[in-house]
Amino acid sequence: MTRAASPAGDVRVAFVGAGPGEADLITIRGAQRLQDADVVLFDSLADPTLRELAPHARWIDVGKRGFTGVAHAPRGSGRENTGQDTINALLVKHAQSGVNVVRLKGGDPSVFGRLEEELAALAAAGIECEVVPGVTAALAAAAATKRPLTRRGAGRSVALTTAMTKTGELVAGRHADTESFYMAGKHLAALSRRLVAAGWPVEMPALVVSRAGWPDQIASEHVVATLGDATVLHSGRPTVVTVGVGAAQVHAHRDATAAIVPTPLAEKTTSTP
Ligand code: SAH
Repeated sequence: MTRAASPAGDVRVAFVGAGPGEADLITIRGAQRLQDADVVLFDSLADPTLRELAPHARWIDVGKRGFTGVAHAPRGSGRENTGQDTINALLVKHAQSGVNVVRLKGGDPSVFGRLEEELAALAAAGIECEVVPGVTAALAAAAATKRPLTRRGAGRSVALTTAMTKTGELVAGRHADTESFYMAGKHLAALSRRLVAAGWPVEMPALVVSRAGWPDQIASEHVVATLGDATVLHSGRPTVVTVGVGAAQVHAHRDATAAIVPTPLAEKTTSTP
């Protein structure tokens, strides 16, 4: 296999998307950046077996429970940037020491990954970097459940949305034919109410997938009005909620256009594998 495009000469920092789950969902380019790394700053969603790709690098846990073993300050406490500032400072420090740094992030670095802050910190220090994409949770959930996010004729748009605002408030609207909600796993009943208030039909398919991309991934199907029923099943696991056309099951059907019309789903719980 040919080597993935190397970054320009003085690029010292690569943001690498680890993908949502098992190590083999990382891209080949991401794996190569790990192989070249001297220091890897990683967070809690990354599969520990990724370490085998960079056995000689120094691995530093900067995830929510890194450093001190306790989670970062709660949202809205005014102290929530402490962890991020520390990560920014570490990135700059290691890059300035002249070693190759990989900043490994779960899923894709550009999706709810605080990438903006870290890019800004490097830019302020005049440090070049690159971003290597990864498989984001919504895509892993679509793959896990074989539910295409776009559907010819019926699903023309997809939105990736966090239901949680910076201050910890739950907000939901209707922005696309298919909408994937991140960070709402603890608030499924409230999300259901917000979705109805935002104009989603109560019978619209809603798919809940936790630990997508891992061997113990769980998927359950609901409709907007019954999303709260998924709470216990997915409790304590990273969860993505897909609502709308892309959440509907694909039926075996000779007429392909008939297969994509979202029909209300009977509530059913499936677990894979
Ligand atoms: N950058 C990541 C998202 C980080 S935000 C990405 O691109 O996927 C963290 C949120 O992502 C979690 O609260 C959850 O909503 C979602 N998430 C991350 N990994 C997941 C997984 N394996 N399965 C389902 N949802 C996941």
